[in-house]
Amino acid sequence: MDIQQDIAQNPTIFGKILRGEIPNNTVYEDDRVLAFHDIAPKAKVHVVVIPKLNFASNIGEVTEEHKEYLGYLLVKINEISEKLGVIGGGFRVLTNSGPNSGQEVPHLHFHILGGEPLAGVNG
Ligand code: AMP
Repeated sequence: MDIQQDIAQNPTIFGKILRGEIPNNTVYEDDRVLAFHDIAPKAKVHVVVIPKLNFASNIGEVTEEHKEYLGYLLVKINEISEKLGVIGGGFRVLTNSGPNSGQEVPHLHFHILGGEPLAGVNG
């Protein structure tokens, strides 16, 4: 589906962010990816990275057809982590999937956590 059409009908809070209906503190944006500071940070650095196309609610819905977009996301996560300055000290990238994980927003996303020791810190 076309990304702009998908954004227009995205029912999640990330859809609201993508449509500009609620503000976000953007770290990085291009035509396929948005990264913003988490509103309730669990670590000194806590950034959420989302695909603009809501092609899966979480990793449990990912298929072969998404692999190019997923690869792109991982490359951007590396670049964003570099920009955030967390790589040298060590950092965590995680994605919650479904009820047992505590996932709140049903739009695939990755948390970048870092800037301090992360024992016990989850996204
Ligand atoms: P998850 O629990 O993995 O679904 O993560 C969703 C994340 O989105 C949580 O860490 C929330 O704090 C974060 N979040 C929810 N609403 C906003 C918002 N308006 N701006 C920034 N982050 C948000």
